[in-house]
Formats: sequence, structure tokens, C-alpha cells
Amino acid sequence: MCRYKILFIDDEANDHSSSRKQLIDTLVKDTRFDIEAVHPIDFQEILDRPDTGTTPYNLIIVDYKLGSKQSDSGSHYHSNGYAVTSLCKEKYPETPVYLISQILNKDVTLGEHYDKMLSHTFLTKSEGRDLLFSDCIHYATLNEKDFTLKELFRLPKDDIDVFYQALPIEFKNIDTSKQTRETHEVLDKEPPTIRLAKWVNQVFLSRSGPLIDEDELAVLFGLKKSDKCLSTLKERNEIKECLYTGIFSNSNHPKWWAQSIFNFASSLVDTENQIMPWKQLPTILGMPDDCLSTCVVCGEKNPECIAYDSDDLPLEQGKPAHWKCTSPSENHEDIPGFNPTLILHDL
Ligand SMILES: [Zn+2]
Repeated sequence: MCRYKILFIDDEANDHSSSRKQLIDTLVKDTRFDIEAVHPIDFQEILDRPDTGTTPYNLIIVDYKLGSKQSDSGSHYHSNGYAVTSLCKEKYPETPVYLISQILNKDVTLGEHYDKMLSHTFLTKSEGRDLLFSDCIHYATLNEKDFTLKELFRLPKDDIDVFYQALPIEFKNIDTSKQTRETHEVLDKEPPTIRLAKWVNQVFLSRSGPLIDEDELAVLFGLKKSDKCLSTLKERNEIKECLYTGIFSNSNHPKWWAQSIFNFASSLVDTENQIMPWKQLPTILGMPDDCLSTCVVCGEKNPECIAYDSDDLPLEQGKPAHWKCTSPSENHEDIPGFNPTLILHDL
């Protein structure tokens, strides 16, 4: 099995009394990784190494607070993880840099300066290490020079048009223009592959558009989102075939290709219901009444969309509603090719 090389920069990397050192030891024992843990003072030696043209690391993890513990040579580091990340990006532009911190509340936060921010606790769990492993695989795929977008995203035929409408213009020829990828440094420090990874995680997998999440899947079929109401449906082969299995898919909650799944839903209902299949699908699927989805604003049946409570920042818990019971958010920019973010009218 391929082992992924990870550079871990932390002032507690050699402090045997720290919980961070225990975490690093757990990662070292994980046969999927080859961990090089260094104190930020010793990182200078890595920076001074001559460039070989290829990056020696699949991923870099940086702690934020780097000045507490001294190095083996007795020196304290006088900067923080933000500055070290900049140095990493300059030296190894194609390598993603993740921040690790004790004070992050969420397991995973997407960043701009850091490619991702992970909480210390998350990385002590097996699911955290699994995410690290799957991310290493995805970044390695992106850094292979001969991928096609169709393979990278495992694009189904029905969704090709919608996908290309949503894909930013800068990535449209990323699979055919190796030269553009290799000469990026002249134009921009951040390589196209790193920018593509950011777009996939921050927009493509985060917003409703070419892909839908489980909340929207439930609404499309007129059902409540619960194991009881959705498990049989999700086990159907036609639904499994619409599951997104492309790049970064297993680093996120499951998503489905919107056009493929809509086409399947429409194919099950009578012609007059094909535009709004959720009206007839619960009956066709033989679902009990307590599985029918209802609008959280007016309480009536057949909600058509997922919307958010404006007080529930940063809008994580989507709820079923009618279009007429929602308004587009004024605080979330519209992104071409994606659905507007909808806010529930007052309950
Ligand atoms: Zn309503």
C-alpha cells in the first residue's frame, strides 16, 4: 500500500508529556502514513534543502502556537503557524497545508490560507485519520499530471452540461493543458490543482447545485429525512448509481448528482407530475403518512426546497419548505451554476 509522507511542524513534536506528541505517535504507528515531525526551529533546515522539482510531502500539518516549547538545541520559535504556512506554500506550492489546533470547535473547517483546519481531538480519532488518508489520496491524484475532469469527478452523462456550467472558467481546460499547470508559477503562486481542490471543497461540495445532499434528496422524493423513511430508497441501485464518488467524495457527507437523480425521480411518476415528482412519489413508493415531508414554515405538504433559519449561523441545518415560504439570502452571494441560498420566512 502507498504510504503518504506527511510533514508535521509543531513545537511539541518532541515533548513526551504533551497530548500532541501522543497524537503524533498514533499517526506514526498508522501504516498508511510516513510522518516526519519537526520543531519549527528545525524546519529551517528543510527550507534550506535544494529544490528537486518535485514535492517530497503529500501533505503538511502545522500547529498554530509554535512558541511555547523550545527545540532540542534550546531555541524558542518566534512566529506562528500562519507564517510557517506561508513558508511551506512558497517552498512546496503543490502541497496542501493543514492547520491543527486545540481551540477549534468544529472537526473540520475549510480555510483560505490553510487548505483545511482540523481540531486536535478530531485527529486523535480514527475518523480523523481516515479523512487525512482520503485527502492524501485525492491530492496525490490531483498532482498526477494526466487526469481528465470526467474521471476526476466520475461525471455521469446526464450531469455533464450542468457540471460545466458550474465549473469556473479557469478549470475548464485543466485536464488538457498540462503546460498551463506546469507554468503556473509565472502567473500565480498557488497552482491550479490546489485552487481546484479549494473550489471542490468550498463550493462544489458545500453548495446546492450540480450535487444535492440528503436533505434535498428527501425533499425530491417527498419524504422526511430519517432512516425509517429514506433507508430503503437509498439502497436502490438507481440511487446508488447517482451517488457522487469523485474527488474528495469520501471526505464529505454523501452527495448525489442532481440531474441524474431528478431524471430518475421523474421517470417513476405520471407525466403531469414529472416537474414536481415529490407530489406523487411517496404514494408510488408506498410510504406511510408519517414519512411525508412537510414545510417547517406553514406545515403544509409538498415542500419543494431546503432553506435555513437566518438565526442559525453559519446556516448548517437545512429544513424543508415551500419556495413561497422562503426568500433568497441577502448575505450569501449567488454563484453561477449553483442554487441560491434560501432563508425561511418567520415561523
Ligand atoms: Zn410552506
